[in-house]
Amino acid sequence: MDTTITGRFAPSPSGYMHMGNLLAMLLAWLDSRALGGRMLLRMEDLDPVRTRPEYAAAIADDLAWLGLDWDAGYPDPAFCQSGRTALYEDAFHTLKRMGLIYPCWCSRAQRLAAASAPHPGEADHDPRCRCARLTAAEKSALLTAGRKPAWKVRVPAGTVTVQDSHYGPYTQNLSRDCGDFIVRRADGVFAYQLAVSVDDMLMGVTRVVRGRDLLSSAPRQAWLIRALGGTPPAYCHLPLLTGDREKLSKRLGSRSTQALRQTMDPRELTGELAFLAGLLPAPTPLTPRELLPLFDWNKIPMGDISIEP
Ligand code: GLU
Repeated sequence: MDTTITGRFAPSPSGYMHMGNLLAMLLAWLDSRALGGRMLLRMEDLDPVRTRPEYAAAIADDLAWLGLDWDAGYPDPAFCQSGRTALYEDAFHTLKRMGLIYPCWCSRAQRLAAASAPHPGEADHDPRCRCARLTAAEKSALLTAGRKPAWKVRVPAGTVTVQDSHYGPYTQNLSRDCGDFIVRRADGVFAYQLAVSVDDMLMGVTRVVRGRDLLSSAPRQAWLIRALGGTPPAYCHLPLLTGDREKLSKRLGSRSTQALRQTMDPRELTGELAFLAGLLPAPTPLTPRELLPLFDWNKIPMGDISIEP
């Protein structure tokens, strides 16, 4: 195994997986294994309200059932975000010492959402708010009034470009396109953007493969990793599975893995996923390992993949 190449599965155990999650997991595995690399399973169970241990166990079981293995990870608590708070705390204090962190008292909804990865339809844009310009006296008045702030990181002026291996160069002007962002919620829970960056950096992840709805998070993560003294991984985003909810294929649709497992064996499901991803001309049953020689990012479309019947 080439230990200089490390991929990861990074599911959030906030529900059972469905086809979209499975496709991301399969491609992340194929990407790393095709290069002879290792694979980690990191459970992104940061938010104690939205995530549950039963879902984490079900996700790990689904991955193993499908034939996707990992070399280190869940259930080791060192690979569960809920067990890594001290590391996020360290990173937070490093950023604070650099003068990049400030308290923010803006809307509660925004602060609650910060622990989860931003997916389509969710607010992901927060131009610099007035909190960035509060005077020391204003801040201490709010703090002594008992109002708990969230904590934001101050992004730099200028652009950040990530070279996405599938979609090409992707540039954002952080201060214009996403603004200062929350790294810690008012209830103390660390935000997705901070946790994922710290984890990818400290776990030595070199390849991040995930849905393209997270492409717009990659520049923030690459910038944070550099600010913390690390080297960002290669990012490789994949198209999303889409379809009108009403019209989604009954067989695949938005059904959970638990439901899919009632009617399909793992080879059939792998064949369906490989076909949807453009890796097979027809949905022929096979194992992920048998799919390895056929794996090629050039076969995978850039546009989203519809699973309407
Ligand atoms: N845990 C995130 C999710 O399930 C994915 C994070 C990532 O791959 O960076 O949406």
